[in-house]
Amino acid sequence: MIYLDNSSTTEPYEDVLEVYKQTSSRYFGNPSSLHRLGTETEQLLEAAAQQIKKTLRLKNYDIVFTSGATEANNAALKGAAWANIKKGRHIIATAIEHPSVTETLDQLTELFGFEVTFLPVNQDGFVSVQDVKEAIRPDTIMVSMMHVNNEVGSIQPVKETGDLLKQHRDILFHVDHVQGIHKVPLSIEEAGIDLCTISGHKFHGLKGTGALLVKKGTRLIPLITGGSQQKGIRAGTEHTAGAVSLAKAVNLSARDMAERLSAMEKAKNVLINRLSETDGVVVNTPAENSAPHIINFSVPGVKAEVLLHMLEEKGIYVSTTAACSAREHKPSRVLLQMNKGEQIAASSIRISLSFSQTAEVAEPFMNALVPAVQKLKKVMR
Ligand code: PMP
Repeated sequence: MIYLDNSSTTEPYEDVLEVYKQTSSRYFGNPSSLHRLGTETEQLLEAAAQQIKKTLRLKNYDIVFTSGATEANNAALKGAAWANIKKGRHIIATAIEHPSVTETLDQLTELFGFEVTFLPVNQDGFVSVQDVKEAIRPDTIMVSMMHVNNEVGSIQPVKETGDLLKQHRDILFHVDHVQGIHKVPLSIEEAGIDLCTISGHKFHGLKGTGALLVKKGTRLIPLITGGSQQKGIRAGTEHTAGAVSLAKAVNLSARDMAERLSAMEKAKNVLINRLSETDGVVVNTPAENSAPHIINFSVPGVKAEVLLHMLEEKGIYVSTTAACSAREHKPSRVLLQMNKGEQIAASSIRISLSFSQTAEVAEPFMNALVPAVQKLKKVMR
């Protein structure tokens, strides 16, 4: 099997599984319990938060452990919107955010009277900072911008937007960092991000683990109410083993980053070049300013799902659109926003690499793809 669907999810590291198992069996205490087992578990939880802060170089942040990025995005957007409702009800976001952001913003609009400006992207999938600037109003309370788009890999101007927002201290900055962490360097602290979302299973951690990184002093109304766990921002007995496994994954995937990124970048360039030379194939990922692990292309006229299954028969696993939307069988919303047209949006395939993959994957991939495309094109004639 050649697994090229790492933006959907990754294989957990052995050490992550091991630490999860050990923590679950040895430190099963409730971190809120006052006896020794509870205290030790609480210390472990705190150590996991400290380790994440150290690896991501965060001095002025709290870590709120969540069940993943969907929950973290909900907690950030709803929590900040509700906390600032008296200041204003206008939010700015890009038009290519993940559904865990767009659907949440739609809910805030429909049920709570917020107004959202969704900023367009250009043909390469980039939002412009000038558009952010022009969208700001006196009642704007938050800007939400993903770091790396999960379908095409375009890197958004997070640092520049953060710099702009430094002149608007009362506007919060939320960044969905899910596809960017450990793939595209970003200093969360320097970019002035107030709320930052990460998800463990995208970097060889476990599903059901993630975090919202909250700049100290940022007011949030809790999405999940109950006990006073996690400074009252996320009630419920903490998933200690999940938190410890997340810290382990953050740590392990940060190792040897420069070499890993350069190997992935090479692999991406080889794949983009080979795909661009292939008859009938259109590459959708921008050549410049894109993440090293995502390559999106279309074979206009061919149903992406059919091609996906032909590649699967050769042992190669890819995605059509993002995994979360794949079962909806709709054309890609992101490619439509990029003005690529219905045909390209309905025939897109995403390859996504893991840290350990190199340019060697290009050969077997192209050997499977080219005959499949030729066969499908013949049938269409
Ligand atoms: N944001 C982005 C950019 C994503 O790619 C994903 C996963 N597809 C999510 C959020 C949701 O992550 P999770 O599976 O952890 O809820």
